[in-house]
Amino acid sequence: MRRRSLLATIALAVAVLVAVPAADTQRGQAAPRATATFAPAPPEDDGQFAVEGDPDPPIAYRASKALGMPWNGRLQRGVQLPSEGRDFFTWDPILKRTPDRGWRRWGTDSLVRTLLSVLREFRAAHPEAARVGVGDIAREHGGHFGREFGGLGHASHQNGLDVDVYYPRFDGLERRAQTPDLVDEYLAQDLVNRFVAAGAAHIYVGPHLDLHGRRGVVSKLVYHDDHLHVRLPQPPE
Ligand SMILES: [Zn+2]
Repeated sequence: MRRRSLLATIALAVAVLVAVPAADTQRGQAAPRATATFAPAPPEDDGQFAVEGDPDPPIAYRASKALGMPWNGRLQRGVQLPSEGRDFFTWDPILKRTPDRGWRRWGTDSLVRTLLSVLREFRAAHPEAARVGVGDIAREHGGHFGREFGGLGHASHQNGLDVDVYYPRFDGLERRAQTPDLVDEYLAQDLVNRFVAAGAAHIYVGPHLDLHGRRGVVSKLVYHDDHLHVRLPQPPE
């Protein structure tokens, strides 16, 4: 017995010794990325170049401006959502694959912040759930995002205040739910509730799903059985 417990102690010690350098290596890998994000802003970027507390994923936040309306507008000094993060993956609705192409992932700084904070809270509340899929936001400078950019196109998504978020699936796969019966409505409703609480101006959900929310904010719209469309309010000047 003593010999076995001695062996167990040695095994534990070895495990700790192995684990510590591994953790250091991870930190070592993260460090250059974190340092890189503090590099001076490129000359053409006159916005502030700041990094939020969490270096994963690094995002070049700057004060953006949503011009005009979501269905007739432009985006100034947008912020690009990374292709994926700890709490989300991105999904290309045209190529039907992950990630979504970079030029389709530009929003205002407040949209990116709000989106990531909702997804972070969602993941904390459901640690066993898969990452949430994020689809199109807007083009780098906003503007028309219609059929010429693939598929049915978007009537809105023009000034960086709209984002498509894919419903969580029952099977936990990180891809869009092609049919409503694949949608985990419990988790989907929780996402809707969180976006309402985060101050969404409007949310569209699918007519074949049992999702609901604050009257005047959440409504049903055709073509939204695989994703919810979140619109944030125009921030005060
Ligand atoms: Zn949309």
